Amino acid sequence: MPTNLKPYVYDYTLEDWQAWVKENGESGFRAGQIFDWLYVKRVSSFDAMTNLPKSLRDKLRDQFDFVTLNEVAHYRSKDGTVKFLFELTDKNAIETVIMKHSYGNSICVTTQVGCRIGCTFCASTLGGLKRNLTSGEIIAQVVKAQQLLDETEERVSSIVIMGIGEPFENYDAVMKFLKVMIHPKGLNIGQRHITVSTSGIVPNIYRFADEDTQINLAISIHAPNDELRSKLMPVNRRYPFADLLEACRYYVAKTGRRITFEYALMGNVNDRPEHAEELARVLKTFPMAHVNLIPVNFVSERDYVRTPRNDIFAFQRILEKNKVNATIRREQGSDIAAACGQLRAKHMESGAR
Ligand code: SF4
Repeated sequence: MPTNLKPYVYDYTLEDWQAWVKENGESGFRAGQIFDWLYVKRVSSFDAMTNLPKSLRDKLRDQFDFVTLNEVAHYRSKDGTVKFLFELTDKNAIETVIMKHSYGNSICVTTQVGCRIGCTFCASTLGGLKRNLTSGEIIAQVVKAQQLLDETEERVSSIVIMGIGEPFENYDAVMKFLKVMIHPKGLNIGQRHITVSTSGIVPNIYRFADEDTQINLAISIHAPNDELRSKLMPVNRRYPFADLLEACRYYVAKTGRRITFEYALMGNVNDRPEHAEELARVLKTFPMAHVNLIPVNFVSERDYVRTPRNDIFAFQRILEKNKVNATIRREQGSDIAAACGQLRAKHMESGAR
């Protein structure tokens, strides 16, 4: 848990604010006003909430922390990608990224300080899991990103929960985060513009399918069989491939939405034509399967090499020949260490937590 004794101002949903104003003897409409200051006007202090009486602002100040994240730095890539390094109130560090696309600005948020899943290609897991973020700490990342975009009158148009951490191991906070993000009186991000990405925490895939949302689901698959997947992603020993695919089928049947399977290509590890053939066999019968191929970023602590460009295209062709839809993720921010966990790892090397 964070070391703060008070909740963060971003930890509350509109319903929480409604309950809070009632408990504190305030008029019901004040909840909407507070929510509006936080997510529509996006002020950075209680004093800026000028239509609230001073007595109410004092109550808020007594009971909540406004400062949730301190920006240590933000770096801007030549391609427009912006990467934030934030320090939490307990001095742990996290990363958040704004990616520029032709269709708008996408924010990649972090859900945990570190990660215990142990994927062998990922820098974020090197120091293990320190703690879960609160919903407010996840929300504040989007608010901070939107505040930067406000300077150029741009908007956050989509969110991917693909930063540091396994979102389905911090399930309740992530669900609360989503509730605030999609609220029409808040940032009002369309559900279909939000994607949650999991390494395959099977019980929570079922839970998520039953939430009755339109939010997208992505599964980090990264291998076409149990043997290789268990080597790359130890989570596969807990939730084997067949169980994972069964949970995915349930999700598709329940929601009618397609799943994106993320496949990070690692040179000579999982990127050979035989891997593509095997993956195609596995996913051929999967309803509406879509594979997103990700050329893996070099992590100095790991020894994976990149897949040559031609081999990436060859891998895609094999999938498509087998009627499995496949795209290649555009690389962004490579000049600013934008790959997951790289900036935080550098910050930790410099002596920070
Ligand atoms: S890829 Fe995601 S789930 Fe795997 S170790 Fe990294 S942060 Fe955790």
